[in-house]
Amino acid sequence: MNRRLLPTTVVGSYPKPNWLRRLIREYEKGEISDKVMRRAYDDAVKAVVKEQELAGVDILWDGEMRRDEMTSYFARRIEGFTIYGEVRVWGNNYYPKPAIVDELRYKDELAVSDYKFLRKITDREIKVPITGPYTLVDWSFNEYYRTREEAVYALAEVINQELRRLVDEGANYIQIDDPAVPTHPEEIEVAKNSIEIVTRGVNAYIGMHMCYGDYSKIYPEILEFDVDQIDLEFANRGFKDVEIFKEYEFTKDLGFGCVDVHTRRIESVEEIKDNIRKAFSIVEPKRVYVDPDCGLKLLPSEVAFEKLRNMCQAARELREDLEG
Ligand SMILES: [Zn+2]
Repeated sequence: MNRRLLPTTVVGSYPKPNWLRRLIREYEKGEISDKVMRRAYDDAVKAVVKEQELAGVDILWDGEMRRDEMTSYFARRIEGFTIYGEVRVWGNNYYPKPAIVDELRYKDELAVSDYKFLRKITDREIKVPITGPYTLVDWSFNEYYRTREEAVYALAEVINQELRRLVDEGANYIQIDDPAVPTHPEEIEVAKNSIEIVTRGVNAYIGMHMCYGDYSKIYPEILEFDVDQIDLEFANRGFKDVEIFKEYEFTKDLGFGCVDVHTRRIESVEEIKDNIRKAFSIVEPKRVYVDPDCGLKLLPSEVAFEKLRNMCQAARELREDLEG
């Protein structure tokens, strides 16, 4: 795909405005109508898109204002899932864990209407993030299929249908979020096959985002995945992982996580420029996409904005240097 040098993008989520959080709580208590809630989400998306535009992001998404998190949101929209009560994970965080209890089938849509709404309110390029089948299965109970593998492939077929619809509507850049893949190197073959199913007949630029896990256990195997870009986090681990990817020729575009989403410290433009330069030791600059390590949703929104703005400024300055 023909893009400017060092395009800047986001991984997906952005902090929800406080007023939206309050409305969601009221909605859950039944105090406001579906219609009012829908309008509130639309307004939140408009605000977040404006912030990303002001920060200078080239390829954006809607900040996932409508998504509570990345597993159950999709599970609720796919036939064959049910959602159990809250399951405790990562210390004191709770989330509703989905279970596969029947044959998985495509129901309605997963992100098509979100994409269409966004298309109406921005001229910038859009990237649509969808949680990958491997991660959705890994983070759910499987009470229907004989094996995990079977469940993953069935879900991959469902997601393939969604991707085809997105492309029919005009989407040309889709990101498969698969953070569970690096945590199960022993099943890398299953993950790879699932991506082949997901992307079959999908005429779009495909990125794959993977945070967590030990990258050395899945590299160079991930180069075999049928995607155009691999998007990884580097800032959170102090860019030590750069070494892993120098060992073999990196044959994909690289989404280079160069800003840490786990700290409120705002990296300076100079610091981020130095960070981005580290990517050039893996691939040539024209294959590098610049983004934060992961979604920004856990940060205060003013911090998220400053980080994005500095990141985009850093990319702009480096672009000018490179283009001379
Ligand atoms: Zn991530």
